[in-house]
Amino acid sequence: MAAALEPSIDAAGARVSLRRLSRPELIAFVREIGESPFRAHQLFRWIHLLGATHFSGMTDLSKGLRVKLETTATLEPLAVDVVQQSLDGTRKLRLLTRDGHAIESVLIPDGEKLTQCISSQVGCALDCTFCATATMGFGRNLDAGEIVDQVYRARTILPSGRRITNLVFMGMGEPLHNFVEVERSLAILMDDTGANFSCRKITVSTAGLVPGIEKLGRLPMGPNLAISLNASDDVTRDMLMPINKKWPIRALLDAVRAYPLDRRRRVTFEYVLLDGITDRDEDASRLAKLLRGLKCKVNIIPWNPHPLAPYRRPPAERIDRFQNLLRDAGLPVYLRRPRGDDIDAACGQLASRGAEALVPLRASRRTRP
Ligand code: SAH
Repeated sequence: MAAALEPSIDAAGARVSLRRLSRPELIAFVREIGESPFRAHQLFRWIHLLGATHFSGMTDLSKGLRVKLETTATLEPLAVDVVQQSLDGTRKLRLLTRDGHAIESVLIPDGEKLTQCISSQVGCALDCTFCATATMGFGRNLDAGEIVDQVYRARTILPSGRRITNLVFMGMGEPLHNFVEVERSLAILMDDTGANFSCRKITVSTAGLVPGIEKLGRLPMGPNLAISLNASDDVTRDMLMPINKKWPIRALLDAVRAYPLDRRRRVTFEYVLLDGITDRDEDASRLAKLLRGLKCKVNIIPWNPHPLAPYRRPPAERIDRFQNLLRDAGLPVYLRRPRGDDIDAACGQLASRGAEALVPLRASRRTRP
């Protein structure tokens, strides 16, 4: 469940964004405006199952209630600003928040599976040296409404019958730096009267905030956990991911070992391959040693180049060799094929670009209510 209930109508009388309220919070809000809790269930369904963007379309609510909602509440959907389509079917969305920040979300088809990568923050505070989002600096946390609405806006560009099957918090930002709103968004996304994702279909990816991993593990609806490991020794990881100075590899792996997962689930380790830096033979053997005994799999991600970082993607033979070395050491390894190479695939690249440089395939700028 989401964190403590907050008073919904604030003292200044500002309208409440209903999109970010979990179901119990929505019930509390509806009570405050003198309505029956049943109205909360109707509202929740409109917002989180049907993706409503206006109260006026909520046809099973009385006219009087719709007017009351207009004066006490808002729905604040994101605006779909740009959709880029890659030749491999990957689609990248640039979405605008109400206060004009650009965030990204990516749809990655794989047979029947359709995975959506969602953002948890505007920019990021972590400063990983290989990441395009890091160059934007930190803007602000997204609220739960803005997190879940990425899913509802993405649905609007899908062909009919196509369904988003998996969600990964691997877009912009560090989800565990925005714990309260990410937790609230998980409760909303897993609610069976809304989008109804199973906890097995949602993965939270972290650069390694140890206290956040511990907190996530205590949630009743624990999602899958992915760790962006990206290096096999502390010297390299300190350089690539400054957060490692606070929680080095050993502390991180201890937290991962303590993360509760049932029998059928494994932790994912993401490992970005940077030419000459993380792709050496000794990295493969150190990595295999570090992960020995852990119920896990490794996703190798050849670095997605972007102009703001001094790295190179390793040549194909090197990527193959690294993968084989890990496999020979007994680790389940998956190579993340570079997707969306022909669009701004690296995380943060699209959001940080000027709109004029893009060719919008399907842009719909919403008129704000
Ligand atoms: N902060 C979270 C989620 C965002 S990054 C985390 O660190 O896990 C999502 C993944 O993309 C991470 O595994 C990160 O290492 C990887 N990544 C970031 N920039 C990349 C790039 N340019 N090429 C390949 N992978 C990248």
